[in-house]
Amino acid sequence: MMWKCGAFEFDSRVPVIMGILNVTPDSFSDGGAHADFASAVKHARAMVDAGAQIIDVGGESARPGAAEVSVEEELSRVLDVVRQLADLGICVSIDTRHAEVAQACVEAGAAIINDVTGFSDPAMVDVALGCDAGLVVMHMKGDPATMQDDPQYGDVVTEVRDYLAGQASKLEAAGVARERICVDPGPGFGKTASQTMELMRNFHEICRLGYPAMCAVSRKSYIGAAYGIENPADRDQASASEALAACELGASVVRTHNVEATAAALKDLRPYVLIGLGSNVALVANPGEETEGKIANLQQAITGLCSIPDTQIVDISGYYESEPAYYEDQDAFVNAVVLARTGVPPKELLRYLHAIEDSLGRVREIENGPRTLDLDIIDYQMYVVSTEELTLPHPRVCERDFVVKPLLELLPHHVLADGTPVTAESAVLGKATKL
Ligand code: ADP
Ligand code: MG
Repeated sequence: MMWKCGAFEFDSRVPVIMGILNVTPDSFSDGGAHADFASAVKHARAMVDAGAQIIDVGGESARPGAAEVSVEEELSRVLDVVRQLADLGICVSIDTRHAEVAQACVEAGAAIINDVTGFSDPAMVDVALGCDAGLVVMHMKGDPATMQDDPQYGDVVTEVRDYLAGQASKLEAAGVARERICVDPGPGFGKTASQTMELMRNFHEICRLGYPAMCAVSRKSYIGAAYGIENPADRDQASASEALAACELGASVVRTHNVEATAAALKDLRPYVLIGLGSNVALVANPGEETEGKIANLQQAITGLCSIPDTQIVDISGYYESEPAYYEDQDAFVNAVVLARTGVPPKELLRYLHAIEDSLGRVREIENGPRTLDLDIIDYQMYVVSTEELTLPHPRVCERDFVVKPLLELLPHHVLADGTPVTAESAVLGKATKL
């Protein structure tokens, strides 16, 4: 999907870097360094040269314990810088929780509003409605002054995910186009180090919401705790590693102080691949337990996927029971979709999948007929090919309900490598029901 930010748009399948420009005297890691106009603009240009596609300008520190700044003071810090960077053709994001600041910056050319209060202020929603800027909806528990005083969660991932889903749907209900929304789980905002770690290690759960998701971990205290690095300014390499991990799980925007280190780390991001799994012949099953037997086949296949070199599973859909398609005189299928990252090229990957099929006793007797296991490559990042051996994206993805439903569970609004959006409407064959 595309993230639409005014005149700019970003393909969420490939992460973009957002460089942080703090024009504050008191930010936690770089306060005061770029507080004057000339050094701020110079630093922004250097970040763009190093690979940042967005510059996030902030005039109020939201570090734990920070005091609120008046609107006048905040505007005097950010407005000229925002205007200058926008005039230079840079995609500028304004990091603010104040509607007046957001409004003035959008008028000055900012293309993104990054709001740590998640557009909970109705005045901020009005600003959003009056412009076409991209919107970063962040989760924070409490407010910066007190948020780190013993934050409590039942399940942090569920609570943050549900909050972001709720705020995003409120914006949509108010009339904001969903393509403008990006979500940010807010690492360190009302979260202990271990709560933030829990969130970042389950980032795919945030991506399942179907909005571009932002990884804003740069120099945060959880990195200090996890990697044993006291000084925030020394956390850049670790921050870049954490950003890579989040991007493997599907993050689309990386907000960072150190663009160079982040860009270098992201070079190691492997392509994603979506693999479709199906079975309608149980290898072993007691009478009446055939469905369980087919699920067991898929689970064995997933174990096989785990042993493919340089390949990690990111997310697995639920299991679906589906009507046979194309050749109808056969048993119901069980299907699932796996999202993985792999360094194995597509044709070689297909050979590994065939070997896994063979290990489950796959025999090919009737075209589209009964099988213990079918493993198809549905979509491989940025790769389009059409040969007898391999066609990508898989040519019949969009008509197959048993592929589309589990795929959209993992990646709502996914767009295939050839630009085709995956939608429920086109999926008319092999009707699937979640088990
Ligand atoms: P089905 O079409 O029912 O999946 P098979 O699993 O027997 O049938 O696949 C037939 C052939 O389709 C495979 O041998 C493979 O070379 C070819 N093929 C072409 N594109 C793909 C793809 N994207 N994923 C898997 N197989 C593919
Ligand atoms: Mg196949």
